[in-house]
Amino acid sequence: MDIAVTGGAGFIGANLVRYLRVADPGGHVRVLDDLSTGSKANLDGLDGVALHEGSVIDPAALDRALDGVDAVVHLAAHTSVPRSLADPKGAYAVNATGTVEVLEAARRHGDLHTIVASSSAVYGNGPALPKYEELPAEPRSPYAGSKLAAEGAAAAWQASFGLPTLAFRFFNVFGPLQPAGHAYAAVVPAFVEAALDRRPLEIHGDGHQTRDFIYVGSVVEALADALWRRVTSEGPVNVAFGARLSLLDVVEELREQLGELDVHHTAPREGDVRHSQADQRRFWELFPDIEPVPFDRGLAATVRWF
Ligand code: NAD
Repeated sequence: MDIAVTGGAGFIGANLVRYLRVADPGGHVRVLDDLSTGSKANLDGLDGVALHEGSVIDPAALDRALDGVDAVVHLAAHTSVPRSLADPKGAYAVNATGTVEVLEAARRHGDLHTIVASSSAVYGNGPALPKYEELPAEPRSPYAGSKLAAEGAAAAWQASFGLPTLAFRFFNVFGPLQPAGHAYAAVVPAFVEAALDRRPLEIHGDGHQTRDFIYVGSVVEALADALWRRVTSEGPVNVAFGARLSLLDVVEELREQLGELDVHHTAPREGDVRHSQADQRRFWELFPDIEPVPFDRGLAATVRWF
């Protein structure tokens, strides 16, 4: 299959592109990425991959990237909660309007199967756990609101125009190619980098906040399975382990793998959710054959990559 991947030079995107090149060597991949947070180096050395530098809010760039492909995976986004607080209009322009542009381009190119990346951030801070897809959304940041708009558009384009869509609500994805060392870094790479540099691990708040971490290798397997079987869903689908680890649990697991580590607590971050855990029933109904990589093995693979 020939697949267009928006945001394919980013963390999840580049892992997906690499996976597709191995699992389907006869297929080609088109990447549309503006390289704002992604990097060309993530795609270095891959044949059968064409990088189109451009933005998902540009219909002409989308037309070039989608011409002749069989399906689209839409991952391009402003992905950070703090960045969305600093630039809420930018987050909506790329994440909400950009998704509408992708869905319209998918219609123009023959009603392409389109997978849209949403986020567990849409659940917000409500006490209900685990988070099941029918819970009322409670977006607490411009990022979360823009992701809710994106998955709403995927559902609306399916209902209104018959476009085959699937919106995945990713929980906390981690693994190789996820950058550390910048202000918006995700917690796992930030911890791993600090641990390897023998610096204290910086925890925002008390460290008892929990997340449902999922290894990127499992996420790209689910994305590829969805592409090959053309899986669609009227509503969004959680993607996670269904397990809950606190940040202090992550520190403990790193201690097991790397030895003694220091921790430094700083102020909690505005817009962060307290607890997160996925209900996985809808995921298992649609993807019974995916076996998630356990957290400790995923963490070891991440440490090896650094
Ligand atoms: P990432 O920042 O590594 O990747 C996003 C990519 O999109 C980057 O390569 C960036 O350059 C590109 N991009 C940004 N704006 C663009 C634009 N206007 N046009 C074209 N390309 C653009 O982030 P990621 O972690 O790989 O996230 C991928 C998707 O998954 C995003 O939609 C994100 O919201 C979603 N998601 C990720 C996680 C996670 O834990 N990593 C969790 C929930 C949801």
